Amino acid sequence: MTHRVTLIPGDGIGPELSAATRRVLEATGVEFDWDVQRAGSDVMDEHAGNPLPDHVLASIKDNRVALKGPITTPVGGGFRSVNVALRKTLDLYGQVRPCKSYAGVRSRYDGVDLIIVREATEDLYAGIEYEEGSDDARSLAEWIAAHGASVRADAGISIKPISVTGTRRIFEFAFDYARRNGRRKVTAVHKANIMKFSDGLWLRVAREVAEQNTDLEFDDRIVDNLCMQLVQRPEEYDVLVLPNLYGDIVSDLAAGLVGGLGLAPGANFGSQAAVFEPTHGSAPKYAGQNKANPMAMMLSGVLMLRHLDEIAAADRLERAIADVIAEGESVTYDMKPTRDDPSAVGTSQVGDAIVAKLEAGGAS
Ligand code: NAD
Repeated sequence: MTHRVTLIPGDGIGPELSAATRRVLEATGVEFDWDVQRAGSDVMDEHAGNPLPDHVLASIKDNRVALKGPITTPVGGGFRSVNVALRKTLDLYGQVRPCKSYAGVRSRYDGVDLIIVREATEDLYAGIEYEEGSDDARSLAEWIAAHGASVRADAGISIKPISVTGTRRIFEFAFDYARRNGRRKVTAVHKANIMKFSDGLWLRVAREVAEQNTDLEFDDRIVDNLCMQLVQRPEEYDVLVLPNLYGDIVSDLAAGLVGGLGLAPGANFGSQAAVFEPTHGSAPKYAGQNKANPMAMMLSGVLMLRHLDEIAAADRLERAIADVIAEGESVTYDMKPTRDDPSAVGTSQVGDAIVAKLEAGGAS
């Protein structure tokens, strides 16, 4: 079967990573019909200032699967983030970030194998904010004071909505993902002791969904305690489910446990589509230099293969990547003992080494 997939190369280091990733995916023997779509600041002039033209969204909706390179969000006004806009428009509510130790990576930890599931539409990221000194912020502060709590008149205010519907669907998604991927335990992460009506709701609904999924273990942790335990005993955790803000922070912590951004893949799932992309950004200073590590994007490709039910190909590609990491020769500068190691290879040479493993059928 041929899979039609939207491919958004992105900008900065994105096009180089995408080219290498496309080559290794094709070398698995799976057939792809790539629908290549450009988005980001480079295409704004051609599309009346819009970095995410409608035909790109239409392509993802039609194909239901996309592989995406990183896209720069310039600082300053006039450019909405393509990444945030994609998540909002396609209602990509379930962000999955696996963090796994591979032999040969320099890290303080071995044996880490975590899946971070982050709710990506609610919480403090919902964008409900009132600027300090504005009429809205002042009247909100007065309203809050009238209801018995205290907030200073010169406060800026950000609101944290967490709904029953949003919480239920992310936990149902997380249990389903855990089961399909052979995981054993789901942990709900929260601060329900302090935020009783947002995180408290989150925990209550998590427990309700857990009662419908008793074939998997379930427990919960307060987020600060979880952070301490993750750096002491990460091997005790399996699938972590977090509201948006904690998910953002803890997924970076977890990426640090397994060797950093160059190895941190990601996927965004919604009811209409799934978009696979590395966690890292477009690293503009390395653009066009054949220098950046393509493995996070390739591992995002592994997640995509699993989503497409190409399990054997996903296993082969992951093993080929793991073998190249373990050998430690054909890896980029960030995976060498020192950043100026002259034996570091470029983006495309990492692709060559992984393709060679796949073609030799030699991924052990
Ligand atoms: P970044 O992840 O692009 O880079 C941070 C540093 O990490 C880089 O300087 C580099 O040293 C290192 N790095 C990142 N990816 C690497 C790779 N594949 N190989 C080797 N080293 C790598 O983060 P940033 O500098 O904060 O962001 C740059 C741009 O990317 C910004 O415009 C930001 O908005 C955007 N961004 C996009 C996405 C996305 O498209 N999903 C995600 C994050 C950031």
